[in-house]
Amino acid sequence: MEPIYEGKAKRLYTTDNPNVLRMEYKDDATAGNGAKKAQFENKGRMNKAITLVIYRMLENPPGRKKVSILPLEVIVRNIAAGSFSRRMGVKEGTPFKKPIVEFSYKDDSLGDPFINDDYAREMNSATEEECAFLKNQARIVNDVLIDFFKQAGLTLVDFKIEFGRLAEDPSQIVLADEISPDTCRLWDIKTGEKMDKDRFRQDLGNVMEAYEEVLSRLQNKLSLFPPSHGSRSFRRPPFFILPHS
Ligand code: 5GP
Repeated sequence: MEPIYEGKAKRLYTTDNPNVLRMEYKDDATAGNGAKKAQFENKGRMNKAITLVIYRMLENPPGRKKVSILPLEVIVRNIAAGSFSRRMGVKEGTPFKKPIVEFSYKDDSLGDPFINDDYAREMNSATEEECAFLKNQARIVNDVLIDFFKQAGLTLVDFKIEFGRLAEDPSQIVLADEISPDTCRLWDIKTGEKMDKDRFRQDLGNVMEAYEEVLSRLQNKLSLFPPSHGSRSFRRPPFFILPHS
């Protein structure tokens, strides 16, 4: 079957239900807006498995409902790295007093530029109320994931998430897309070793070994927290759907 959409890391296929799509994770890796390309066996399978663990942790079942992705990347940073360090001249590894939440405009031809809420409003990407909602949700995801990764011996340096409007009700905005070492920076708490896509971006080698290690540590931790937890230490995000006024 032909995909209805193919991006750098995923393909989307229709199903019998018009509101439901099937997502396939590719083994392709790209960096620098597609300037650098490679393939890693099992990367798609591993990113999918890691995403499923994380969504379970967020108690936000990864519905297969069709969404139209907002053209915004919502990025949360706890520690300086990547484009922040390059842009601001701040040494990688410098912790922030409070997490930074920022937006990029999803457009490869423009190089996914950094934007603010006013740009998002004027580009009709999201209303001011929606931008506030996205930032709040991103902070909640950050709080939950910092704890979870910490228990797995990993520091959550930064990450990118995306949101979509439900096809069946575009007023509803939900967390969508993957959360994996392709979209997060994760450092080993003890050694500081990079366990994410920076291994590919910076030619550090052992890319898949790091992803496998992340998956196995997360799975071990998740098994300690069955779905009907009640007493676990992670804070549950209240909701991921924009309550529409
Ligand atoms: P930076 O802006 O420092 O390059 O990225 C910040 C965080 O967001 C990193 O964890 C990075 O992996 C993620 N990120 C930002 N933009 C993208 C993107 O276009 N694709 C992917 N996979 N991750 C991104």
